[in-house]
Amino acid sequence: MRAVLLHGANDVRVDEVPMPRIVEDGDAIIKLAAACVCGSDLWPYRGIDPITTPVSAGHEYCGVVQEVGTSVRNVKPGDFVVGSFFASDNTCEICRAGYQSGCLNRHPMGAENCQAEYVRVPLADGTLVATPSMPDPDLIPSLLACSDVLGTGWFAAKAAEVGPDKTVAVIGDGAVGLLGVLSAKLLGAERIIAMSRHQPRQQLAIEFGATDIVTERGDEGVARIKELTGGLGVHSALEAVGTQESMMQAIRSTRRGGHVGFVGVSHDVNLPGLELFFSHVHLHGGPAPVRDYLPDLIGRVMNREINPGRVFDLELPFDQAAEAYRAMDERRAIKALLRF
Ligand SMILES: [Zn+2]
Repeated sequence: MRAVLLHGANDVRVDEVPMPRIVEDGDAIIKLAAACVCGSDLWPYRGIDPITTPVSAGHEYCGVVQEVGTSVRNVKPGDFVVGSFFASDNTCEICRAGYQSGCLNRHPMGAENCQAEYVRVPLADGTLVATPSMPDPDLIPSLLACSDVLGTGWFAAKAAEVGPDKTVAVIGDGAVGLLGVLSAKLLGAERIIAMSRHQPRQQLAIEFGATDIVTERGDEGVARIKELTGGLGVHSALEAVGTQESMMQAIRSTRRGGHVGFVGVSHDVNLPGLELFFSHVHLHGGPAPVRDYLPDLIGRVMNREINPGRVFDLELPFDQAAEAYRAMDERRAIKALLRF
């Protein structure tokens, strides 16, 4: 089968690799409906860590079950399924508390290859959620979005305690930030301020429910948010970038007693303790427990209540994976979908 492998910084190739097979009794093999590139795939692509041997790529997936191990009960061959970027048993104490991405037996799907024609999913019973029926082909991008970017935006909004009557700021206009806007809208936020300076992304943010756009960043961005909120700051800030600047922008844009939901993978972020102490801001974040939200989010997609697949603004044949990475790296595309 074909799979994307990262051979080095800026060196993405589609190679012929062996088919995955059942290793543990709880595994499932899935034929992927499509593949996609995540913003977090760009960190290794840019050469943050040196790559000495070709490494697998991607961690988002949905598709049809081909084969299951002997202990699998909840899904069967022929089911269309969606899973999260962490496989989880969904039975341990941490899972039952709604933190499946922190499962005691979790397995990162980035270690399998999800930018490939087939993938092995460990802990299939806990990880995979089957759709009630075979989805129409036009729903595939939205179901793929559930696997990570929508679930992550949803967690950011939940972690920031978004709800009715709340004013929300969303920092980051990538797929997660934009779907954070959609999540805030679905959770009933009254006002949603999207921070973006890219016109097509601003437009999508508005389509998803943003009421205001702020183009300023850093201290200027914070000042603008304060101006828009009577000097108080927002109730809820969603941080979907992961840099020092974006994290501080989120904290400083939030009013005393407010909440920051941070889901951008943190890169060299250091929080000033004394400032945090006096800010009275709640911080909650981390890798999103997408599995917890999948039944709800899949249902909304299947009912055509939401269309999170709108974040895919570039579709390419699988063999052009290298161009998909380039386009996202150069911010020419919000998110790239690869068709087999
Ligand atoms: Zn668990």
